[in-house]
Amino acid sequence: AGGKPLLAVRGLEAWYGESHVLHGIELHVGEGEVVTLLGRNGAGKTTTLKSIMGVIGKRKGSVTFAGQETIGLPSRAIARLGIGYVPEERGIYSTLSVEENLLLPPQVKPGGLPVEQIFTLFPNLKERLRSQGTKLSGGEQQMLAIGRILRTGANLLLLDEPTEGLAPVIIDQIGATIRMLKQKGFTIVLVEQNFRFAQTVADRHYVVEQGKVVDMIPNAELDANIDKLHAYLGV
Ligand code: ATP
Repeated sequence: AGGKPLLAVRGLEAWYGESHVLHGIELHVGEGEVVTLLGRNGAGKTTTLKSIMGVIGKRKGSVTFAGQETIGLPSRAIARLGIGYVPEERGIYSTLSVEENLLLPPQVKPGGLPVEQIFTLFPNLKERLRSQGTKLSGGEQQMLAIGRILRTGANLLLLDEPTEGLAPVIIDQIGATIRMLKQKGFTIVLVEQNFRFAQTVADRHYVVEQGKVVDMIPNAELDANIDKLHAYLGV
């Protein structure tokens, strides 16, 4: 990472009602880094993203963004600081057009990308401007969901399984998109089940197990740690 982290998560705990799901997550993400959260189903990866975004009932610990503590802030205030979350379901409105879907979120932070610039980054969306949200392919919906977040001015992007359910050729396009965003200076935390994909985009990988980070593997060391990783992921 080098230097001060853009995102620092320390001792993060979270609950769904009575159910205690996160037990002290620790993450440090430098500006411009791409890191993944790897782990089995139910390990707490999605809950970690939701807790950073503040969209969970109860959380405890510390999450600082650009040095500012966000625990205790409502999710809208967290978004205004420059954090954007693309949930696994993507949240595309089926009856709205591509353009309407893009324009829907309020521009929460000054400096959000204008729609024209989003179309420069995602030219295929421009071609589908008047298409209905659900007429898009899964890959196009994922691009739209990411484009919409860029409009809010977020510079930290939390992406939950962007490749879920997509064909290999589309997964490659999502990979190219993530590398392009990294090149533009965005910081990304990515939940992935597919560590072969994760390897093509990330600088480092955090392994989550039962609500805790149990390991951190630099991308260059992933192959050397493949047996360990298989054991973590149960594959
Ligand atoms: P997956 O890939 O299956 O989403 P994950 O690592 O993202 O796995 P989480 O979705 O964060 O895991 O779930 C962590 C734990 O919290 C699991 O035991 C899950 O059953 C539980 N959980 C998730 N969402 C809820 C909810 N809305 N209410 C209650 N428990 C939940």
